[in-house]
Amino acid sequence: MIWHPFTKQLHMPAPIGIVKGKDTLLFDEQGNSYIDAISSWWVTIHGHANTYIAQRLYEQALQLEQVIFAGFTHAPAVQLAEKLVQLLPPHFSRIFYSDNGSTATEVALKMAIQYWWNKRQTSFRRVKILAFNNAYHGDTFGAMSVSDRSVFTMAFHDLLFEVIFIDTPNAENLDTLYQTIDHHAGELAAFIYEPLVQGAGGMHIYAAEHLDALLAYIQNHEIICIADEVMTGFGRTGKLFALEYMQCKPDIVCMSKGLTGGTMALGATACSNKIYEAFLSDDSLKTFFHGHSFTANPLACTAALASLELIERNNSLQAITHIAAQHSQFAQQLQLQKGIQNIRQLGTILAFEIAQGKNEYLNTIGGTITQMAMEQGVYIRPLGNTLYLMPPYCITNEELQKTYRVILDILNRICA
Ligand code: PMP
Repeated sequence: MIWHPFTKQLHMPAPIGIVKGKDTLLFDEQGNSYIDAISSWWVTIHGHANTYIAQRLYEQALQLEQVIFAGFTHAPAVQLAEKLVQLLPPHFSRIFYSDNGSTATEVALKMAIQYWWNKRQTSFRRVKILAFNNAYHGDTFGAMSVSDRSVFTMAFHDLLFEVIFIDTPNAENLDTLYQTIDHHAGELAAFIYEPLVQGAGGMHIYAAEHLDALLAYIQNHEIICIADEVMTGFGRTGKLFALEYMQCKPDIVCMSKGLTGGTMALGATACSNKIYEAFLSDDSLKTFFHGHSFTANPLACTAALASLELIERNNSLQAITHIAAQHSQFAQQLQLQKGIQNIRQLGTILAFEIAQGKNEYLNTIGGTITQMAMEQGVYIRPLGNTLYLMPPYCITNEELQKTYRVILDILNRICA
Protein backbone atom coordinates (compact mmCIF):
# COMPACT_ATOMS: atom_id res chain seq x y z
CA MET A 1 0.00 0.00 0.00
CA ILE A 2 2.86 2.37 0.70
CA TRP A 3 4.97 4.20 -1.88
CA HIS A 4 8.41 4.53 -0.31
CA PRO A 5 10.73 7.51 -0.99
CA PHE A 6 13.82 7.24 -3.23
CA THR A 7 12.84 3.64 -3.95
CA LYS A 8 12.43 2.02 -7.34
CA GLN A 9 8.97 0.43 -7.16
CA LEU A 10 9.42 -2.56 -9.47
CA HIS A 11 11.38 -5.43 -7.89
CA MET A 12 11.58 -3.39 -4.72
CA PRO A 13 12.95 -5.55 -1.90
CA ALA A 14 10.40 -5.83 0.91
CA PRO A 15 11.03 -2.99 3.38
CA ILE A 16 12.24 -4.11 6.79
CA GLY A 17 9.78 -3.63 9.62
CA ILE A 18 11.38 -1.66 12.43
CA VAL A 19 9.65 -2.06 15.78
CA LYS A 20 11.91 -0.17 18.15
CA GLY A 21 14.86 2.15 18.36
CA LYS A 22 17.11 2.87 21.32
CA ASP A 23 20.10 5.19 21.21
CA THR A 24 22.24 4.10 18.25
CA LEU A 25 20.32 0.87 17.68
CA LEU A 26 17.35 -0.06 15.49
CA PHE A 27 15.48 -3.35 16.14
CA ASP A 28 13.52 -5.15 13.43
CA GLU A 29 10.50 -7.48 13.60
CA GLN A 30 12.77 -10.52 13.60
CA GLY A 31 14.64 -9.28 16.65
CA ASN A 32 17.78 -8.26 14.71
CA SER A 33 19.50 -5.06 15.78
CA TYR A 34 21.41 -2.59 13.61
CA ILE A 35 23.77 0.26 14.47
CA ASP A 36 22.23 3.25 12.72
CA ALA A 37 25.53 4.63 11.39
CA ILE A 38 23.86 7.37 9.31
CA SER A 39 21.47 8.68 12.01
CA SER A 40 18.42 7.77 9.87
CA TRP A 41 19.04 10.25 7.04
CA TRP A 42 21.25 12.41 9.29
CA VAL A 43 18.59 13.45 11.77
CA THR A 44 18.80 11.47 15.05
CA ILE A 45 21.74 13.30 16.61
CA HIS A 46 21.02 12.00 20.14
CA GLY A 47 20.06 8.53 18.95
CA HIS A 48 16.61 6.93 18.86
CA ALA A 49 13.79 7.11 21.42
CA ASN A 50 15.60 9.53 23.70
CA THR A 51 13.79 9.43 27.05
CA TYR A 52 14.28 13.12 27.88
CA ILE A 53 12.84 14.29 24.54
CA ALA A 54 10.01 11.73 24.87
CA GLN A 55 9.12 12.98 28.36
CA ARG A 56 9.10 16.62 27.26
CA LEU A 57 6.90 15.69 24.26
CA TYR A 58 4.45 13.83 26.49
CA GLU A 59 4.12 16.81 28.82
CA GLN A 60 3.69 19.23 25.92
CA ALA A 61 1.10 16.96 24.23
CA LEU A 62 -1.05 17.16 27.36
CA GLN A 63 -0.71 20.94 27.40
CA LEU A 64 -1.02 22.10 23.75
CA GLU A 65 -0.45 19.88 20.74
CA GLN A 66 -1.15 22.32 17.87
CA VAL A 67 -2.54 25.78 17.27
CA ILE A 68 -2.91 28.00 14.20
CA PHE A 69 0.17 30.25 14.14
CA ALA A 70 -1.25 33.37 12.49
CA GLY A 71 -2.49 35.62 15.27
CA PHE A 72 -1.52 33.15 18.00
CA THR A 73 1.78 32.30 19.61
CA HIS A 74 2.99 29.90 22.32
CA ALA A 75 5.89 29.41 24.68
CA PRO A 76 7.73 26.57 22.84
CA ALA A 77 7.89 28.63 19.61
CA VAL A 78 9.01 31.79 21.43
CA GLN A 79 11.61 30.01 23.54
CA LEU A 80 13.00 28.12 20.55
CA ALA A 81 13.28 31.27 18.45
CA GLU A 82 15.08 33.04 21.31
CA LYS A 83 17.45 30.10 21.69
CA LEU A 84 18.23 29.81 17.96
CA VAL A 85 18.83 33.55 17.59
CA GLN A 86 21.19 33.37 20.56
CA LEU A 87 23.14 30.49 18.97
CA LEU A 88 23.45 32.17 15.55
CA PRO A 89 25.72 35.15 14.72
CA PRO A 90 24.55 38.42 16.34
CA HIS A 91 22.98 39.97 13.21
CA PHE A 92 20.25 37.29 13.10
CA SER A 93 16.96 38.50 14.52
CA ARG A 94 14.01 36.42 13.27
CA ILE A 95 12.99 32.77 12.92
CA PHE A 96 10.39 31.62 10.38
CA TYR A 97 9.08 28.11 11.07
CA SER A 98 8.12 25.45 8.53
CA ASP A 99 8.01 21.66 8.32
CA ASN A 100 11.24 20.17 6.93
CA GLY A 101 14.51 20.90 5.15
CA SER A 102 12.94 21.51 1.74
CA THR A 103 10.46 24.03 3.11
CA ALA A 104 13.24 25.71 5.13
CA THR A 105 15.07 26.34 1.82
CA GLU A 106 11.87 27.31 -0.04
CA VAL A 107 11.19 29.91 2.64
CA ALA A 108 14.77 31.20 2.41
CA LEU A 109 14.58 31.57 -1.38
CA LYS A 110 11.20 33.28 -1.24
CA MET A 111 12.39 35.63 1.51
CA ALA A 112 15.44 36.60 -0.56
CA ILE A 113 13.48 37.16 -3.77
CA GLN A 114 10.77 39.13 -2.00
CA TYR A 115 13.40 41.16 -0.14
CA TRP A 116 14.40 42.66 -3.50
CA TRP A 117 10.79 42.95 -4.65
CA ASN A 118 9.86 44.82 -1.46
CA LYS A 119 12.79 47.18 -1.86
CA ARG A 120 12.09 47.92 -5.54
CA GLN A 121 14.84 50.51 -5.53
CA THR A 122 15.83 50.01 -9.13
CA SER A 123 13.90 49.62 -12.34
CA PHE A 124 15.17 46.05 -12.75
CA ARG A 125 14.62 43.34 -10.20
CA ARG A 126 17.11 40.88 -8.88
CA VAL A 127 15.40 37.52 -9.42
CA LYS A 128 18.13 35.02 -10.20
CA ILE A 129 19.71 32.63 -7.79
CA LEU A 130 23.34 31.55 -7.70
CA ALA A 131 24.00 27.99 -6.53
CA PHE A 132 26.68 25.32 -6.64
CA ASN A 133 26.95 22.51 -9.12
CA ASN A 134 26.36 19.23 -7.32
CA ALA A 135 24.11 20.91 -4.74
CA TYR A 136 21.10 19.34 -3.07
CA HIS A 137 18.59 21.53 -1.25
CA GLY A 138 15.45 19.39 -1.23
CA ASP A 139 12.68 17.95 -3.38
CA THR A 140 10.06 20.70 -3.67
CA PHE A 141 10.13 22.77 -6.87
CA GLY A 142 12.12 25.75 -5.64
CA ALA A 143 14.54 23.52 -3.76
CA MET A 144 14.90 21.30 -6.84
CA SER A 145 15.53 24.36 -9.03
CA VAL A 146 18.55 25.41 -6.96
CA SER A 147 19.82 21.83 -6.77
CA ASP A 148 22.07 20.17 -9.30
CA ARG A 149 20.38 19.01 -12.48
CA SER A 150 20.68 15.31 -11.68
CA VAL A 151 18.79 12.03 -11.71
CA PHE A 152 16.74 13.42 -8.81
CA THR A 153 15.40 16.31 -10.91
CA MET A 154 15.56 14.93 -14.46
CA ALA A 155 11.82 14.58 -15.11
CA PHE A 156 11.22 18.19 -14.10
CA HIS A 157 14.02 20.08 -15.85
CA ASP A 158 11.67 21.95 -18.18
CA LEU A 159 9.79 23.36 -15.23
CA LEU A 160 12.65 24.37 -12.94
CA PHE A 161 13.52 28.07 -12.80
CA GLU A 162 16.80 29.27 -14.22
CA VAL A 163 19.73 29.26 -11.83
CA ILE A 164 23.35 30.32 -12.34
CA PHE A 165 25.46 27.35 -11.28
CA ILE A 166 29.13 27.58 -10.30
CA ASP A 167 31.63 25.02 -9.04
CA THR A 168 32.51 24.85 -5.38
CA PRO A 169 35.62 27.00 -4.84
CA ASN A 170 39.19 25.76 -4.68
CA ALA A 171 42.62 27.37 -4.92
CA GLU A 172 42.62 27.21 -8.73
CA ASN A 173 39.12 28.28 -9.77
CA LEU A 174 38.34 31.35 -7.63
CA ASP A 175 39.13 33.86 -10.38
CA THR A 176 36.85 32.09 -12.83
CA LEU A 177 34.06 32.05 -10.26
CA TYR A 178 34.53 35.79 -9.65
CA GLN A 179 34.17 36.42 -13.40
CA THR A 180 30.87 34.54 -13.52
CA ILE A 181 29.62 36.50 -10.53
CA ASP A 182 30.67 39.82 -12.13
CA HIS A 183 28.85 38.85 -15.28
CA HIS A 184 25.53 38.23 -13.47
CA ALA A 185 25.94 40.47 -10.42
CA GLY A 186 23.10 42.93 -11.06
CA GLU A 187 20.48 40.21 -11.58
CA LEU A 188 21.45 37.96 -8.68
CA ALA A 189 19.09 38.06 -5.70
CA ALA A 190 20.75 35.38 -3.63
CA PHE A 191 23.38 32.71 -3.35
CA ILE A 192 22.46 29.40 -1.69
CA TYR A 193 25.10 26.95 -0.50
CA GLU A 194 25.64 23.94 1.70
CA PRO A 195 28.55 25.17 3.82
CA LEU A 196 31.65 22.94 3.60
CA VAL A 197 29.84 19.66 2.85
CA GLN A 198 27.56 18.95 -0.10
CA GLY A 199 25.52 16.12 1.37
CA ALA A 200 23.20 14.26 -0.98
CA GLY A 201 25.39 15.34 -3.92
CA GLY A 202 27.95 12.81 -2.67
CA MET A 203 29.45 14.13 0.61
CA HIS A 204 31.75 16.46 -1.27
CA ILE A 205 33.87 18.43 1.24
CA TYR A 206 35.47 21.77 0.32
CA ALA A 207 37.69 24.18 2.20
CA ALA A 208 36.48 26.94 4.55
CA GLU A 209 39.21 29.28 3.33
CA HIS A 210 37.96 29.21 -0.26
CA LEU A 211 34.30 29.45 0.69
CA ASP A 212 35.15 32.46 2.84
CA ALA A 213 36.86 34.19 -0.10
CA LEU A 214 33.89 33.47 -2.35
CA LEU A 215 31.38 34.70 0.23
CA ALA A 216 33.32 37.95 0.67
CA TYR A 217 33.24 38.50 -3.09
CA ILE A 218 29.54 37.71 -3.34
CA GLN A 219 28.66 39.93 -0.41
CA ASN A 220 30.55 42.81 -2.03
CA HIS A 221 27.93 42.58 -4.78
CA GLU A 222 25.14 42.78 -2.16
CA ILE A 223 23.90 39.30 -3.05
CA ILE A 224 22.00 37.70 -0.16
CA CYS A 225 23.80 34.64 1.17
CA ILE A 226 21.70 31.65 2.24
CA ALA A 227 23.51 28.94 4.21
CA ASP A 228 21.63 25.66 3.95
CA GLU A 229 22.62 24.11 7.29
CA VAL A 230 19.91 21.45 7.09
CA MET A 231 22.53 18.71 7.16
CA THR A 232 25.57 20.52 8.59
CA GLY A 233 23.75 22.17 11.51
CA PHE A 234 23.68 21.09 15.14
CA GLY A 235 27.21 19.79 15.44
CA ARG A 236 27.67 17.58 12.39
CA THR A 237 30.85 19.26 11.17
CA GLY A 238 32.46 19.70 14.59
CA LYS A 239 30.97 23.11 15.36
CA LEU A 240 27.34 23.87 16.19
CA PHE A 241 26.92 25.40 12.72
CA ALA A 242 29.34 25.00 9.81
CA LEU A 243 29.09 28.77 9.20
CA GLU A 244 31.29 29.18 12.30
CA TYR A 245 34.30 28.06 10.24
CA MET A 246 34.05 31.17 8.02
CA GLN A 247 34.53 34.87 8.76
CA CYS A 248 31.82 35.86 6.26
CA LYS A 249 28.41 35.11 7.71
CA PRO A 250 25.23 34.48 5.73
CA ASP A 251 22.07 36.62 5.79
CA ILE A 252 19.76 33.60 6.00
CA VAL A 253 20.22 30.14 7.54
CA CYS A 254 18.09 27.04 6.85
CA MET A 255 17.74 24.43 9.60
CA SER A 256 15.94 21.10 10.00
CA LYS A 257 17.02 17.45 10.51
CA GLY A 258 19.02 17.58 13.80
CA LEU A 259 17.00 20.60 14.97
CA THR A 260 14.54 18.39 16.88
CA GLY A 261 17.10 15.69 17.56
CA GLY A 262 15.39 13.93 14.67
CA THR A 263 12.25 13.36 16.75
CA MET A 264 9.74 15.59 14.97
CA ALA A 265 9.50 17.18 11.53
CA LEU A 266 10.40 20.87 11.79
CA GLY A 267 12.07 23.45 9.59
CA ALA A 268 13.37 26.84 10.65
CA THR A 269 14.68 29.69 8.51
CA ALA A 270 16.61 32.37 10.37
CA CYS A 271 17.16 35.80 8.86
CA SER A 272 19.13 38.90 9.68
CA ASN A 273 17.51 42.15 10.70
CA LYS A 274 18.44 43.63 7.33
CA ILE A 275 16.22 41.07 5.57
CA TYR A 276 13.42 41.38 8.09
CA GLU A 277 13.30 45.16 7.84
CA ALA A 278 12.40 44.97 4.15
CA PHE A 279 9.12 43.34 5.26
CA LEU A 280 8.32 45.98 7.90
CA SER A 281 5.81 48.08 6.01
CA ASP A 282 2.27 49.45 6.02
CA ASP A 283 1.92 48.14 2.50
CA SER A 284 0.05 44.79 2.72
CA LEU A 285 1.68 43.67 -0.50
CA LYS A 286 5.02 43.56 1.31
CA THR A 287 3.70 40.82 3.62
CA PHE A 288 5.48 37.47 3.44
CA PHE A 289 2.51 35.39 2.23
CA HIS A 290 3.84 32.02 3.24
CA GLY A 291 2.82 29.52 5.89
CA HIS A 292 1.97 25.90 6.59
CA SER A 293 -0.82 24.30 8.62
CA PHE A 294 1.74 22.99 11.09
CA THR A 295 3.93 26.11 11.24
CA ALA A 296 5.68 26.14 14.65
CA ASN A 297 3.92 23.00 15.84
CA PRO A 298 4.26 23.12 19.66
CA LEU A 299 5.38 19.48 19.89
CA ALA A 300 8.08 19.96 17.27
CA CYS A 301 9.30 23.18 18.93
CA THR A 302 9.38 21.38 22.30
CA ALA A 303 11.41 18.53 20.82
CA ALA A 304 13.85 21.10 19.42
CA LEU A 305 14.18 22.85 22.79
CA ALA A 306 14.81 19.51 24.49
CA SER A 307 17.36 18.54 21.83
CA LEU A 308 19.25 21.82 22.21
CA GLU A 309 19.31 21.30 25.98
CA LEU A 310 20.73 17.82 25.42
CA ILE A 311 23.47 19.19 23.17
CA GLU A 312 24.62 21.29 26.13
CA ARG A 313 23.87 18.82 28.89
CA ASN A 314 25.48 15.81 27.17
CA ASN A 315 28.42 17.92 26.09
CA SER A 316 27.71 16.81 22.53
CA LEU A 317 30.48 18.94 21.04
CA GLN A 318 32.97 16.90 23.07
CA ALA A 319 31.36 13.65 21.88
CA ILE A 320 31.59 14.99 18.32
CA THR A 321 35.31 15.74 18.76
CA HIS A 322 35.77 12.20 20.03
CA ILE A 323 33.95 10.68 17.03
CA ALA A 324 35.99 12.92 14.71
CA ALA A 325 39.23 11.65 16.27
CA GLN A 326 38.12 8.01 15.86
CA HIS A 327 37.12 8.73 12.25
CA SER A 328 40.59 10.22 11.58
CA GLN A 329 42.27 7.07 12.84
CA PHE A 330 39.97 4.93 10.72
CA ALA A 331 40.69 7.18 7.72
CA GLN A 332 44.39 6.39 8.16
CA GLN A 333 43.59 2.67 8.10
CA LEU A 334 41.49 3.23 4.98
CA GLN A 335 44.47 4.84 3.21
CA LEU A 336 45.99 1.35 3.09
CA GLN A 337 42.84 -0.17 1.63
CA LYS A 338 42.78 -1.14 -2.05
CA GLY A 339 39.87 -0.24 -4.32
CA ILE A 340 38.74 2.99 -2.64
CA GLN A 341 39.60 6.63 -3.22
CA ASN A 342 39.13 10.20 -2.06
CA ILE A 343 38.90 9.55 1.68
CA ARG A 344 37.69 12.69 3.40
CA GLN A 345 36.33 13.77 6.73
CA LEU A 346 34.86 16.72 8.58
CA GLY A 347 33.62 16.32 12.15
CA THR A 348 31.36 13.27 12.39
CA ILE A 349 31.17 12.87 8.60
CA LEU A 350 33.55 10.40 6.95
CA ALA A 351 33.25 9.52 3.25
CA PHE A 352 35.06 7.83 0.39
CA GLU A 353 34.34 6.36 -3.02
CA ILE A 354 34.42 2.71 -4.00
CA ALA A 355 36.41 2.63 -7.25
CA GLN A 356 33.98 0.38 -9.11
CA GLY A 357 31.71 1.43 -11.96
CA LYS A 358 30.69 5.04 -12.47
CA ASN A 359 30.89 7.74 -9.79
CA GLU A 360 27.15 8.23 -9.55
CA TYR A 361 24.05 7.81 -7.44
CA LEU A 362 22.74 5.01 -9.67
CA ASN A 363 25.81 2.85 -9.10
CA THR A 364 24.32 -0.33 -7.63
CA ILE A 365 27.30 -1.11 -5.41
CA GLY A 366 25.66 1.01 -2.70
CA GLY A 367 22.69 -1.33 -2.40
CA THR A 368 24.98 -4.35 -2.22
CA ILE A 369 26.97 -2.72 0.59
CA THR A 370 23.82 -1.86 2.55
CA GLN A 371 22.77 -5.51 2.36
CA MET A 372 26.18 -6.83 3.41
CA ALA A 373 26.44 -4.39 6.33
CA MET A 374 22.96 -5.22 7.62
CA GLU A 375 23.84 -8.89 7.70
CA GLN A 376 26.52 -7.87 10.20
CA GLY A 377 24.31 -5.56 12.27
CA VAL A 378 25.24 -2.17 10.81
CA TYR A 379 23.00 0.15 8.81
CA ILE A 380 24.64 2.35 6.18
CA ARG A 381 23.13 3.65 2.94
CA PRO A 382 25.81 4.70 0.44
CA LEU A 383 24.97 7.36 -2.15
CA GLY A 384 25.74 5.17 -5.17
CA ASN A 385 29.44 4.32 -4.81
CA THR A 386 30.01 6.96 -2.12
CA LEU A 387 30.15 5.27 1.25
CA TYR A 388 29.77 7.56 4.24
CA LEU A 389 29.27 7.48 7.99
CA MET A 390 27.30 10.03 10.01
CA PRO A 391 26.54 8.42 13.37
CA PRO A 392 24.45 9.76 16.28
CA TYR A 393 26.60 11.60 18.83
CA CYS A 394 25.74 8.99 21.49
CA ILE A 395 27.45 6.17 19.56
CA THR A 396 29.70 4.17 21.90
CA ASN A 397 33.34 3.36 21.19
CA GLU A 398 32.41 -0.29 20.79
CA GLU A 399 29.68 0.51 18.27
CA LEU A 400 31.99 2.77 16.31
CA GLN A 401 34.75 0.15 16.23
CA LYS A 402 32.24 -2.50 15.16
CA THR A 403 31.06 -0.23 12.34
CA TYR A 404 34.65 0.26 11.15
CA ARG A 405 35.33 -3.51 11.33
CA VAL A 406 32.23 -4.30 9.29
CA ILE A 407 33.20 -1.72 6.64
CA LEU A 408 36.75 -3.09 6.39
CA ASP A 409 35.39 -6.61 6.09
CA ILE A 410 33.04 -5.56 3.27
CA LEU A 411 35.82 -3.67 1.47
CA ASN A 412 38.08 -6.68 1.70
CA ARG A 413 35.39 -8.78 0.09
CA ILE A 414 34.22 -6.45 -2.66
CA CYS A 415 37.60 -4.93 -3.55
CA ALA A 416 39.54 -8.21 -3.48
N1 PMP B 1 19.04 20.69 2.36
C1 PMP B 1 20.00 19.80 2.60
C2 PMP B 1 21.42 20.28 2.66
C3 PMP B 1 19.70 18.46 2.78
O1 PMP B 1 20.68 17.58 2.99
C4 PMP B 1 18.34 18.06 2.72
C5 PMP B 1 17.91 16.61 2.90
N2 PMP B 1 18.82 15.63 2.68
C6 PMP B 1 17.38 19.02 2.47
C7 PMP B 1 17.74 20.34 2.31
C8 PMP B 1 15.92 18.65 2.39
O2 PMP B 1 15.46 18.28 3.64
P1 PMP B 1 14.12 17.41 3.77
O3 PMP B 1 14.47 16.04 3.30
O4 PMP B 1 13.83 17.45 5.24
O5 PMP B 1 13.08 18.07 2.97
